[in-house]
Parts: sequence; structure tokens; C-alpha cells
Amino acid sequence: APILYWMRRDLRLSDNPALTWVVQQGRPVIPVFCLDEVVETWGAAPKWRLGLGLDVLRGSLEDAGARLILRRGQALDVLRTLIEETGADTVVWNRLYVADERTRDTAVKEALRSDGLTARSFAGHVLFEPWTVETGSGGYYKVYTPFWKAVRDRDPGAPEPAPKEFAAPEVWPQSEALDDWDLGRAMSRGAAVVAPYARVGSAAAEGRLGHFMAHGVADYDSGRDKLAEDGTSGLSENLTLGEIGIRTCWAAGQRAMADGKPGAETFLKELVWRDFAHHLAYHTPHLTSENWRSEWDAFPWSDDNDLAEAWRRGRTGVEVVDAGMREMYVTGRMHNRARMLVASYLTKHLMTHWKVGADWFADCLIDWDPASNAMGWQWAAGSGPDASPFFRIFNPDTQAEKFDPRGTYRRRWLAEGQAKPKETADAFFEAIPESWGLTPGQGYPAPIVDLKEGRDRALAAYKQRDTGQ
Ligand code: FAD
Repeated sequence: APILYWMRRDLRLSDNPALTWVVQQGRPVIPVFCLDEVVETWGAAPKWRLGLGLDVLRGSLEDAGARLILRRGQALDVLRTLIEETGADTVVWNRLYVADERTRDTAVKEALRSDGLTARSFAGHVLFEPWTVETGSGGYYKVYTPFWKAVRDRDPGAPEPAPKEFAAPEVWPQSEALDDWDLGRAMSRGAAVVAPYARVGSAAAEGRLGHFMAHGVADYDSGRDKLAEDGTSGLSENLTLGEIGIRTCWAAGQRAMADGKPGAETFLKELVWRDFAHHLAYHTPHLTSENWRSEWDAFPWSDDNDLAEAWRRGRTGVEVVDAGMREMYVTGRMHNRARMLVASYLTKHLMTHWKVGADWFADCLIDWDPASNAMGWQWAAGSGPDASPFFRIFNPDTQAEKFDPRGTYRRRWLAEGQAKPKETADAFFEAIPESWGLTPGQGYPAPIVDLKEGRDRALAAYKQRDTGQ
């Protein structure tokens, strides 16, 4: 009987424990991707980017003599239907750790087992699964540095090579057409503006990793913080969909360490930040939906509001904040330093709830990762476990002087007031919906909130929360 391999955030053939196991069984394998109850909730850019990834994956599977079966519906219904159609008796997948994914997967596993079928899951999405990293007293980690110390000398295992060939089932089940899913539907700007920035699929991801190891990692320690520079790996859009395996990245980082490349350890640490986000999402599932520290429930953050709308549109009048927001709108990504700045600005200067920001990121980022996004936002807001203290409020202007001293990043993304704006800056105005009613000719806005007043207001609210007065 064939084995169903249920693919989710593991759109790759190498460094893939579930797939390796299936192929070792020597039985026919049917790879399936399901547009299910979890994927349906994704935002515009992540869904659009998923569509591109599935298209490339389908090609790689076909090159290896297999197919990718696409089906839409509740995951369990889809799998049961396919089992009936194909006679499969086994379903396998690589495990995920965020609340909605786990709820779905646990229910699927229980139901399939109660149907008398084999359901097996594997570790493939993180370096070290959340329950394997324990504190001295057997708990989970709430702070990053001890987490890093606990894992840095561990071996996550060598990545497996891609299978050379797949045993095909006698009859392939029907697949729905990817085009019919229209995954770019909500992403009107996608095809035209963002597409050139996306690097899709496993081959592109491996190329990116190789390039970074050859050219980027040595300067990563300082390069990663410079807003105008391409000083990081760019792998997040591939890692979130599993187009490259995390152990492949880890192994490359370890080789660079052994070669004495200066930034290699910092790169490994960043990979472990990603693991840490999943560790937290697993042990404290409310990470993605509520203030991690419930004392923040009493903080007077506002829900969505006009100032937040100006923030989304890159019209706050604070240049580095607006540059970051526009970079994200045009490229589907944002520099990490800019993410920290725009998140601090929204939650502190604009006193708006981090969830408003996290939701907009979830709609705009092609590298959206539910665990890293929530952890990043709760860190910036001060409500997370290992958070930046609320009273440490970034001054965006000082940050811009430090990390964009020549204004290159800001000019790259802000067209207003420039005689000859960069193409990238103009692209923002091509990308935005007409309903925003924005043109570069309108001129650049004055700050919607005075930086000092905003800071003082946030600190006063924080003090009040702290003293309960
Ligand atoms: P590199 O610097 O090359 O790092 C290599 C890899 O390490 C990344 O690809 C990523 O997988 C991981 N990594 C690096 N920094 C972090 C971090 N702080 N947290 C978790 N993992 C990290 N990252 C996402 O992948 N998806 C998100 O939705 C996301 N949302 C964020 C929201 C906020 C408010 C903040 C402050 C950060 C967020 N990050 C998110 C983390 C970080 O900004 C990105 O991972 C990074 O900018 C991606 O660029 P890169 O691949 O070139 O990273």
C-alpha cells in the first residue's frame, strides 16, 4: 500500500526526516499538500508566497518521478478521502509547534489511529524539539541566553540527502490545479511588485546559503545591523516554508566556525533564536495570541486606530519607520533592525497593541513565521518572556543616525521630496491600493506624534501600570 506524505512547512526533498523514512520503506509515496483550516487563515503575502513555493516543489517532485497532490478542505477529511481513494494505510509528516498547527495535527493523528491506520510524525522543522531542551529543574526556557548555552554544543544530526527516486503508486490520485486555488488573490500588489524580490524553492535557498557563507558571514557581526546593507542570509522566507532544512543551515554555520569565519557563531545564534521562538510557542501556546505576561492586559494600549493606519501606510513622518514599512510593502521583507524600530514605535510612541502590528506583518511578510513574529512583537512591546524592558524606548532618529548614517536606506524607500527618487521608492506608490489616495507629490508628512511627547506618554502609562495607580 502507498504511504501518504503530508507536506506543510517542509517544501523540500533533502534534510527531510519524514520523506527519508518513507523512501526507506521502499513503498510508493504520495506527497500531498492540503489547503486546510490552518493555511486558510494565513495573510495575503504568506499565501501568495506559498503558491510560488508549491509550484517549484511540484516541479522538483516531477523531476524525481513523483507528483504533488493538491487538495482543499479540512486536513482530516482530505487525508481520509485520499486514503480511501489510494488504499494508503500510513500517513507521515514533519512536526510543527505553533498552537493552531498542533491542535490540527494532534486531532489528525488521533483520528487516523482510531481508524486503525499508521500515523507517524518526525522532527524536521527545528534543530532541537521543544521538549528536548530542559532547564536544570526540568522546565522550559524563558530566556534566550541559557537556551543558547543549553543547545550550542548539541548535534542536531546530519541532514539527509534528497532521495534519488520515488516509488510511484499504480494510480496517482487527482490533484486540484494550483491556479484554481488562486493563492495570490488577496495580494493584488504581489505579482508586479514583490515578485522580483522573492527567491523561491530549495535550489534558490541553497544558492543563498552558499552565497552567504562565501561572502556574508565573515562580516555578519557588523553587517547585519546596517540598514542599507544586504548583510544577512535572507533565508527566512525559505526557512519558514521549509524550502531549506534548518540542519543544513546549522551544518553550514558550523563549517564556517571551523574555518574561523568571524560571524559564524552569531549566525548560529540567530538560527537558535528561531528555535527559541518555537520552543516558547510550544510551551506557552498563548505566545501568538495574548500578552505572554498577563500583567500587560491592564496596559492602556489602544486597538486599531488612525495612527496605526498611518503606520501601515508608511506615513508617520518618522523617516526610518516609514522606510521600514514601505520596504516591507514592496519586498515582502523588512530588515531586522527596522522591524525592531517600527514595532517599538507602534507599541510605545503610538501606544497601539502589538497584535495590530503583528497582524499587519502577518499580512505583508513573505517570511511570516507565526512563532518568530509573535516573539519579535512581544519582545518589542515588553510583554514577552525575554523582552526588552518597556522603558527602553528606541529613539528612531538616533537609531537612524547610527544604523543608516548616510541616509541610504531612507532614500531607498522614501520618494517624497526627492528630485529623482529611486526606483524602489517609486515602487511603493505602484504597489499601494488606489484607495489609500497617496502620491509622492503630496510631500512628506510632518510627524504624526512628536517623538518626545510620544515617549513621555508611553513612560507615564508604564509607570502607572507598574504602580497600579
Ligand atoms: P539572518 O540574519 O540571516 O538570520 C538567519 C536566520 O535566523 C533567519 O532566516 C531566521 O530564520 C533566524 N532568525 C534571525 N533572527 C531571528 C529572530 N530575531 N527571531 C527568530 N528567528 C531569527 N522572522 C521570521 O522569520 N518571520 C517573521 O515573521 C518575523 N517577524 C518578526 C517581527 C518582529 C517585530 C521582529 C523584531 C523580528 C521578526 N523576525 C521574523 C525575526 C527577524 O527579523 C528575521 O528572521 C530576519 O530579519 C530575517 O532575515 P534573514 O533571513 O536575512 O536573517
